[in-house]
Amino acid sequence: MNKPRFTYHKYSQYLKRVFGERVHKIPINAGFTCPNRDGAKGVGGCTYCNNVSFNPFYSYDNTDIKKQLDDGIRFYSKRYGVNKYLAYFQAYTNTYGELSHLKLMYEQALLHPRIVGIVLGTRPDCMQDDLLDYLTELSERFYVSVEYGIETAHDSTLRNINRCHTYAESVKTVERTAERNLHTGVHVILGLPGESEDMMMTTAKRISKLPLNSIKIHQLQIIKQTAMAKQFKENSELFHNLSYEEYIDLVSKFLAYLPGSITIERFISESPPDLIIHPNWNGKRNYEIAERIEDKFLKSNRWQGKYFNNGK
Ligand code: SF4
Repeated sequence: MNKPRFTYHKYSQYLKRVFGERVHKIPINAGFTCPNRDGAKGVGGCTYCNNVSFNPFYSYDNTDIKKQLDDGIRFYSKRYGVNKYLAYFQAYTNTYGELSHLKLMYEQALLHPRIVGIVLGTRPDCMQDDLLDYLTELSERFYVSVEYGIETAHDSTLRNINRCHTYAESVKTVERTAERNLHTGVHVILGLPGESEDMMMTTAKRISKLPLNSIKIHQLQIIKQTAMAKQFKENSELFHNLSYEEYIDLVSKFLAYLPGSITIERFISESPPDLIIHPNWNGKRNYEIAERIEDKFLKSNRWQGKYFNNGK
């Protein structure tokens, strides 16, 4: 049987449509901190967070943005032969700081001749109106995308993992960003402690109503040197033992609740294996799970949007 033409909306294809060629994101660390670590919102951070796990080897706590971009571009151009890049401000909270300092960091990246836009990873409670004004103005000349870690639509879970923001704040900030016509993305985690499959699908239904352009879905990973690692050691029964097969099934259902207009950027987190305590999926890569999800769609007669219901 031939594969259906549409199974899910790929972020890579979306970027190709926007730029007319393949574009790659270069993760950088601009030396920002996070209001959930410095006491402004909370202390200790989200219980699963160890920022080392999402920094690539060439990215370090350094405000020399150009050097990080040069190192990243050297690495990715050899590997993928790509000419255009987006500077991905990934580590910590990349909209947290004085506006003048934020502008300086973003503009350093945009000065690089191979950089065609910026992607800002941040928290939903960390987007001031003056920054949105500036980003809106910037988006007339460059591609600008904001990616919010909303993680789940359940406040009980958000409290449990010490996110120090609510789902209502996520909704409001996503709407304020999308109103400006900025590319608006979110990040969610499946398998958070205390969440049943029904709760995860409720998250899918709720976010399906948001004005989103893209989503990243990750499995919960318990990473060394985090509060969650300690909880896992003391009370492992609080955590669901999510198998790789079960996760593929969950993601394929989750996508079925999302409208086809949302592009899907990632399915899993690829933290360095030496930092992962649980689950051990033997270093599975995003492209591997993407193939498995397409197979799952075929076998279960699902596709992105199959269960999407705009009216409810
Ligand atoms: S996950 Fe993000 S918001 Fe949470 S502590 Fe880490 S950097 Fe801060």
